[in-house]
Amino acid sequence: MLELLFGTTNPGKLRELRRLVAGFDLRVISPEDLDRPLPEVVEDGCTFRENAAKKASAYARFSGLHALADDSGLCVDALGGLPGVHSARWSDLDGLASPACAAPQVAAHELGPELARSSRDEANNDKLLAALAGVPEAQRGARYVAVLALARPDGTIAAQVEGACIGRIGHVRRGQRGFGFDPLFVPDEGAGQRATAGDRRAGAPVVERTMAELESSEKDAISHRGAAFRALRPILEKLAFDKSER
Ligand code: IMP
Repeated sequence: MLELLFGTTNPGKLRELRRLVAGFDLRVISPEDLDRPLPEVVEDGCTFRENAAKKASAYARFSGLHALADDSGLCVDALGGLPGVHSARWSDLDGLASPACAAPQVAAHELGPELARSSRDEANNDKLLAALAGVPEAQRGARYVAVLALARPDGTIAAQVEGACIGRIGHVRRGQRGFGFDPLFVPDEGAGQRATAGDRRAGAPVVERTMAELESSEKDAISHRGAAFRALRPILEKLAFDKSER
């Protein structure tokens, strides 16, 4: 059976990847199943693709397993695509950071304990609201991007796929689910609140939900990670099949 290491210590990503592979004939290995912590990988690439490949390759060589790594982030139109590859540690950076590669190299070991991570998410969301203060509705467009890289045990890249989810940045946080920027991100599709019959009779307006207000299955159906995973699915299916034949 295919043993696949999920090369991330981000619990939000781990939860989502586990949901996405449910039903596959493979055994998920998460970092805590290993006898040593994942090695530090400096995410100094200019693109999600570079960083995802670098992580997948390093984690595969480290574990001797096939490894799947996710590099993802939020690209905000009014900020020229930032925070982009700097999303995870954006609040640690002075100013908005450069959209170009000359941006400060972000120390890139995947971020520590859950508490530190959630307070960093809060600080990132505060920074985003401040950066967009006064920006009108029509200019609050944004997209989530996720690249999934699958590496073979020798570190070579077997596949790289990308997914995106288009939406806009709200004015206040809403919702408790998901992680990261989800309480501020309103996806263009799938965000309409299902109105009750009573609401409809009363002509209540449709309230659009943030990503953090969606059910997990709803997020998976429209998210950048879900889209990337659907592109990876046939490759993973073939790999799992080939492994089960042996
Ligand atoms: P990475 O671990 O370097 O790929 O950074 C990913 C960062 O992008 C996260 O820490 C979040 O700030 C943001 N991000 C990526 N995907 C999502 C998502 O699905 N929801 C919310 N934030 C996300």
